[in-house]
Amino acid sequence: MKKILIVGGAGYIGSHNVRLFLDRGYDVVVIDNLNTGHLDALDSRAKFYKCDIRNKEELKKIFLDEKPDGVVHFAALSLVGVSMKQPLEYFSNNVYGMQILLEVMHETGVNKIVFSSSAATYGDVKEMPITEDTPTNPINPYGETKLMMEKMMKWCDIAYGIKYVSLRYFNAAGAYDDGSIGEDHNPETHLIPLILQVPLAKRDHISVFGDDYDTRDGTCIRDYIHVMDLADAHVKAIEYLFKGNDSQIFNLGTGDGQSVKEMIIEAEKVVGKEIKKEFAPRRAGDPAKLIASNKKAKEILGWTPKYTLHMIMESAWKFHSTHKDGYKK
Ligand code: UDP
Repeated sequence: MKKILIVGGAGYIGSHNVRLFLDRGYDVVVIDNLNTGHLDALDSRAKFYKCDIRNKEELKKIFLDEKPDGVVHFAALSLVGVSMKQPLEYFSNNVYGMQILLEVMHETGVNKIVFSSSAATYGDVKEMPITEDTPTNPINPYGETKLMMEKMMKWCDIAYGIKYVSLRYFNAAGAYDDGSIGEDHNPETHLIPLILQVPLAKRDHISVFGDDYDTRDGTCIRDYIHVMDLADAHVKAIEYLFKGNDSQIFNLGTGDGQSVKEMIIEAEKVVGKEIKKEFAPRRAGDPAKLIASNKKAKEILGWTPKYTLHMIMESAWKFHSTHKDGYKK
């Protein structure tokens, strides 16, 4: 049985991956500093170490004790707005964290890593869909750190033979089917959790950021991809590396886009009542439209997203309606 070290396994996307890797028969060890992750999101079948990856001594000891076959890396700060105000925290957690992780991998002979990257590496793109050949030009420190982390892996591959798959997610969404784990950020800035706070009486209305974009209804269009579809791509990516394949970068999205207004309508269908919305000014740094081409991941990884928009909203509602205050009960 192969052993996977999941770094940042107590976070939103990490915790769903932990479940899927366990269900697919992997031995899973989780490292998380719990700054933004949640102990309650952790699967009890996984072995857990509370550790900040910037603590090299501790991290190296875990690698030497556990001897993982591969690493899946989610441990990073991920809020675009906060990154604009606190870029140095993003460089420390994300870039310096990656520096130490790669040093430890190199020193302990672990040479396979699947990395949680982002469509934020592309920046404000005019031509849709976005392919892996679209030039990268991040417009916020968050996206910049993800791109820097990719470059660090690229040079460590050339120098030390550390093979990587970098997965550039579009808009991660939804929750585990039974609603037992899901999305819980503090502060929450993401559209679906914020929409669902309205029927949960946690907010009066959802603010729609801009209705004058050059899109079909004037609101921003995003490619929402279910978190379990993302997890499936991570399992396929590590298996791709275990077969001895070369490093790659893949987009992960459905190839389709929904506007903010369409997302509210979908939520109303799932919740069964009207959701009050108010139009607000554009949010700084928001591109009008982001849609992935997922052709490369389909062809090389054999990955196909299976969750519909309805399933995304339904699973998110299951999580939020049973965890009104997130993991804090
Ligand atoms: N959005 C919105 N109101 C909100 C939060 C988000 O209209 O309260 C919009 C935002 O402008 C973007 C889309 O919803 O077009 C998705 O935003 P989110 O923060 O979920 O993800 P992002 O695309 O920024 O990664």
